[in-house]
Amino acid sequence: MRINVARSSMPPFEEYCAEIRGLWDSRWLTNNGEKALALEAALKAYLQTPNVVLFSNGHLALEAAIRAMGLSGEVVTTPYTFASTTHALVRCGVTPVFADIRPDTYTIDPTEIEKKITERTTAIVPVHVYGSFCDVEAIAAIARKYHLKVLYDAAHAFGSTLNGQSAAAFGDAAMFSFHATKVFHTVEGGAVACKSDELAEALRLERNYGITGPETTVSVGGNAKMNEFQAAMGLCNLRHLDEEMAKRRCVVAVYRKRLAGAPGLTLCPENPCDNSAYFPVLFNGLSVTRDEAYARLAAQDIYARKYFYPITSAFECYAGRFNPDDTPVAKSVSEKILTLPLYADLSEGDANRICDIILA
Ligand SMILES: *Cc1c(COP(=O)(O)O)cnc(C)c1O
Repeated sequence: MRINVARSSMPPFEEYCAEIRGLWDSRWLTNNGEKALALEAALKAYLQTPNVVLFSNGHLALEAAIRAMGLSGEVVTTPYTFASTTHALVRCGVTPVFADIRPDTYTIDPTEIEKKITERTTAIVPVHVYGSFCDVEAIAAIARKYHLKVLYDAAHAFGSTLNGQSAAAFGDAAMFSFHATKVFHTVEGGAVACKSDELAEALRLERNYGITGPETTVSVGGNAKMNEFQAAMGLCNLRHLDEEMAKRRCVVAVYRKRLAGAPGLTLCPENPCDNSAYFPVLFNGLSVTRDEAYARLAAQDIYARKYFYPITSAFECYAGRFNPDDTPVAKSVSEKILTLPLYADLSEGDANRICDIILA
């Protein structure tokens, strides 16, 4: 059977049916319905944050946050991320300035951030890569020193904690993705968590055309609302999140046991507080290169992913605009990284088989 890098978790079918049953009576399918309000409340509690604004997907949540926070000019960010982070900035008329990443956690390097700050810099947009946290203290110190805003792309970090705090605790705002392939999902979906009530209100305006009342529209907002069927999926999946992450941890334990210390392979530092969202393996190229491993797995119908390759500054659509060589660590990591299949019901046998192929 084909093994993909991710497989969406599903709640029991009957549980989802029960969750959506009431929608046939209420006919309230979107616009702050009962399910969306319940999910916002549940996520505020889970993330320990005063405000959660739900969106139809993570990318539009990120664009809404960029606009609601008034980011402009230049923003220091990482090219070692999914297309969404860089595209959101560019689509909102902001210039991304790329800082290099740390070689151990693949998150943005605070000392590199500082080198990229100019008079035009308004914010830092870091990414908690693979669910492990950025150097949040150092980033907060830089932001204070230069009076910059911080917007975290926490798309990977739902369920991870740092000293007992969720990703919502850091920066002026944090964006989460609830895409079907993420640890917690609402099919498509996303959210922004923030401490400021004012920012939360601005995010709601971005989400629903800037409409504040039947006859008042105060800003040029878009439409990025989460609907009730998505929110119902979120309510169900949230109930099963802990068992989901526990099962993922078992797969990760197999990978670590088999691959740690293998010549030519580097694993991320072990962290019991991360959400086991991804399992990246860095191929140092001593025995077998990343591309060979990818091909050997694919030959067995196992699809790992070169995530993140290429770095966003090397995308065709940005040709001539950015120089991938400005961030040599990010470029080098992207050429050697492979994320292995990881999902709750990946069997121990399959995890071992994947290790056998990599170690062969
Ligand atoms: C998934 C993801 C996004 C975008 O989220 P969507 O919900 O798919 O729109 C943004 N950034 C990163 C790092 C992601 O992995």
